[in-house]
Amino acid sequence: MPDMSPDEFTKNGHKLVDWIADYLNNIEKYPPLANVSPGDILKRIPQTPPKNGEDIEKVLVDVDKLLIDGITHWNHPGFMAYFNSTSSMPGILAELLSAAFNANGMLWKTSPAFTELEKAMMNWFRQMVGLPENYWGIIYDTASTSSMHAIASAREQLNLCIRENGMTGRNDLPKLRLYCSEHAHSSIEKGAITLGLGLNGVKKIPVDENFRMIPEKLEQAIKEDISKNVKPFCVVATVGTTSTTSVDPVEEIAAICEKYDLWLHIDAAYAGVTAMIPEMKWVTSGWDKADSIVINPHKWMFTPMDLSIYFTCKPDILKRAFSLVPEYLKTQVDDEVENLMDYGIQLGRRFRSLKLWFIIRYFGVDGLAERIKIHITLAKEFADWINNEKDFELLAPVPFSTVCFRYNPGGLSEEELNQINEKLLDEINKSKTIFLSHTKLNGRFTIRLTIGSIRHERRHIFQAWEVIKTLARSVS
Ligand code: PLP
Repeated sequence: MPDMSPDEFTKNGHKLVDWIADYLNNIEKYPPLANVSPGDILKRIPQTPPKNGEDIEKVLVDVDKLLIDGITHWNHPGFMAYFNSTSSMPGILAELLSAAFNANGMLWKTSPAFTELEKAMMNWFRQMVGLPENYWGIIYDTASTSSMHAIASAREQLNLCIRENGMTGRNDLPKLRLYCSEHAHSSIEKGAITLGLGLNGVKKIPVDENFRMIPEKLEQAIKEDISKNVKPFCVVATVGTTSTTSVDPVEEIAAICEKYDLWLHIDAAYAGVTAMIPEMKWVTSGWDKADSIVINPHKWMFTPMDLSIYFTCKPDILKRAFSLVPEYLKTQVDDEVENLMDYGIQLGRRFRSLKLWFIIRYFGVDGLAERIKIHITLAKEFADWINNEKDFELLAPVPFSTVCFRYNPGGLSEEELNQINEKLLDEINKSKTIFLSHTKLNGRFTIRLTIGSIRHERRHIFQAWEVIKTLARSVS
């Protein structure tokens, strides 16, 4: 038997599924944040691989023995750091099936159901967030990858023969410039680094008091660049910035993009899923004018890592930028089908659309929208608690489910406040009940609390607030 026998697989499979169900059911018995020092886990793993095979049962035992205290439990309802990314049970089942098929969707032929289910899911999701029919979608691993493909498409649209001739050693190329706000995610700059634009190829536009890009400053920067023979080519607007979840004024930015003929990419990695909620339709303002948009179900749609959706109304440009078909990948149906390898840098790809298929069918669109809506309501309630407590203050508006705040008992300098809040965050995370993260807003150390886990209930938010208040008294 070259592989594990079906009997053994069934026995171990049942054991693992039981383990997972038990783990998720009792997840609150673990601290949300791993409590180990660098190297602790590595020390526990033998330095050399086993010469002879071992029973999987032994490996399962070692998950508990060697790994578990080095796991930061993203599925823990006390995890309120960064942006939550939680895996729902239907999503976990879909991952299992994906590994069983092990289908590689590089070509339509290498698994027709793969390509066609992805197409169907992109069509479903497009409708769920209310994008018009001319938007074509594809699944990448992360928003970083999605945005990199957006920037590559924007560059390709310029017809500067960069695909053929590259960017180095050419004196016929203008300097290219991309614009985003000071609060855009670092993935935009990483995309620029990857594509040879360099960090200086990105201009960060100042934001207003609510952390939204100022369109007048954008236009001013574009005009300045044009006057210096720098070529503007792309603007990234963010709907739900990473630090505060602010929403750039997309309509105004879109008008500027139209005027100067620039590619408009919208980074809605976190907040894009809220477009499913009827009361939140305002978030989609201007989306129909974008050339591309990214939304991450792996952030706030209960989808196990990883799954990022990239929509564009110009898939032909994406294909022009990336399609390269060697003889060994040609098929007889190339003219009739979409081969997903033509739309990005990767050849092989995981069967991620299964996760969407399971999750959307299990919860239904209304069920997903309802869960996300509850998170927004809970965040507003938490923000009210902050507002009503005289020793705390909100440091940013709360349009979605992330609350930026600090402890401010009065009479302290900004530097002292920064120190005391950093200490408070440290104590909170040592409490082993909740895990929060931070940012800096206008030089102020800011504590962030994000609600978005499929396991978040009101009691968890209430408990978090009690922990924060109690520890604040102890640090002051
Ligand atoms: N864009 C925004 C607004 C984000 O907040 C993040 C991550 O938090 C990203 C992009 C990057 O996401 P990913 O990890 O999928 O690359």
